[in-house]
Amino acid sequence: ISSATIIDGKAHAAALRQRVAEGVATFTAATGRQPGLAVVLVGEDPASAVYVRSKGKATAAAGMNSIEHRLPVDIDQTGLLELVAELNADDGVDGILVQLPLPSHIDSHAVIAAIDPAKDVDGFHPVNAGRLATGLPALVPCTPLGCIMMLKAVHGHLAGLDAVVVGRSNIVGKPMAQLLLAESCTVTIAHSRTRDLFAAVRRADIVVAAVGIPRMIEGGWIKPGATVIDVGINRTDDGLVGDVDFDSAVQVAGAITPVPGGVGPMTIACLLRNTLVAASRRAGVAEPE
Ligand code: NDP
Repeated sequence: ISSATIIDGKAHAAALRQRVAEGVATFTAATGRQPGLAVVLVGEDPASAVYVRSKGKATAAAGMNSIEHRLPVDIDQTGLLELVAELNADDGVDGILVQLPLPSHIDSHAVIAAIDPAKDVDGFHPVNAGRLATGLPALVPCTPLGCIMMLKAVHGHLAGLDAVVVGRSNIVGKPMAQLLLAESCTVTIAHSRTRDLFAAVRRADIVVAAVGIPRMIEGGWIKPGATVIDVGINRTDDGLVGDVDFDSAVQVAGAITPVPGGVGPMTIACLLRNTLVAASRRAGVAEPE
């Protein structure tokens, strides 16, 4: 039985963080200031608090200024929009990230749309989504950006490959499909209304799973030798598992990301990269590669 190459997301992320830290040092020497990332957390959701803490640590470790704003869960939309406006106007803030999900009394779309697109390091603002779709320089959502970087590391060029993205959310599936299209893949976007998901996965050279259902995609669906990127993070009784049934898929795939240790670490490294990119564009200095 053959076994796939395991794509080491931690190692890819460590290398990217190192490149970002070097870029930050160059930026700081050229401009006399550190890039700044402001993270806004509303309420006390424990998972969100963990993400925000690890983002803050990684930001500081890369030599950037980490600014954290914690707001009470009952803050109204006006109060949150006022903070976003202050951060937009603050010259020391290069990146603004409002941790999702927001409490249900707040309209997330309105909050995202209020962020200055030049500081939108999550890449969720409609201007950045539109720029990505039309091939203009954009801030690209961190999770799909990390996925495309790992795919390029595995394949070199992606042109002509058949790719399926399972999931069509604004934060993962749609921008992932745009990035694959920009690399000249033939892209299928599957979702909950797709009629024959098995057939769509079966013909793909690249499978990106971003569904949120534990181990939904089985090894028997995968085309032998295909590259499988598992975005899913599902908490189960046996711990964290992906959207792909790793044990069966690893027997068939050519390369596969594990969960944990695959896409997750790259997401935070890409956030640091986006902050440096935003800072460089705002300051008019050379962007990192
Ligand atoms: P969403 O819930 O926003 O989207 C899930 C998508 O999966 C939807 O498009 C939905 O289709 C589709 N879907 C649901 N059921 C099926 C099915 N039976 N067959 C085919 N498609 C289906 O999730 P996200 O995109 O935000 O996240 C997806 C996963 O990735 C989650 O596990 C999340 O935890 C993880 N994640 C991981 C990150 C990381 O850093 N590694 C970052 C972000 C997310 P429809 O649109 O029709 O409802």
